[in-house]
Amino acid sequence: MEFVFIEELRGKKGEINLIPRFIMDDIDDFMVKGQKFYAIYDSETKMWSTNESSVPIIVDRKLWKRYNELISAGEIVHVHTMQTTAISKHVTYVEATHSQTAIRYRKENIPNEEELAAMRLIAEKVFEPLRAYFKVPLAITSFFRSKQVNVLVGGSAHSQHTKGEAMDINAAVWGGATNGEIFFYIKNNLLFDQLIWEFGDDKNPDWVHVSYTNIGNRRQILRAKSNGHNTTYESWIG
Ligand SMILES: [Zn+2]
Repeated sequence: MEFVFIEELRGKKGEINLIPRFIMDDIDDFMVKGQKFYAIYDSETKMWSTNESSVPIIVDRKLWKRYNELISAGEIVHVHTMQTTAISKHVTYVEATHSQTAIRYRKENIPNEEELAAMRLIAEKVFEPLRAYFKVPLAITSFFRSKQVNVLVGGSAHSQHTKGEAMDINAAVWGGATNGEIFFYIKNNLLFDQLIWEFGDDKNPDWVHVSYTNIGNRRQILRAKSNGHNTTYESWIG
């Protein structure tokens, strides 16, 4: 039996409330050792996860799945999610952990508490000030990457993406601002650990990589160039 089922309660106005209910006996997708969380089975990736942060995510996935079914049947639905935590005002948990590669290769891409704290920090210190200045949606194309996912995307071994300390912003996805404008706004107005002009031309990078840490920010600025085979990083002049 599964450790959670989704109860559907019909409200006074006809709406359906979806509420997760937990079962503690006779379950086979949840393991406890010495009264502590040990592992949970994720039926989507078909893997056991020993990361406790997976629990609310797996529960919420079941809730949203049922939500979508009911919504397409014309119902009004209220969902009582576990993971109400956004990363910041304009950064959702889903976009911050979304990875095509993770989905394709069935790899877990779930940050732990420490990594989540780092993600919230850079979102508050870098992304939200940017968002407030430009007043347009800005696409985050890569944020958190688990170590397995980072290897698959060819990220550098010490990538700050694996710690939740770095994000890639591509303003060209939604328009409204250019990647050059994003780069120079960060460079001239914000504190950061590392800022990279990622490829592109002299007017705009293809995307902007920026990181922020809670242990001293270096304000290192680099420009990534490629000759088609190798990537080189040059110090930013000016
Ligand atoms: Zn990056």
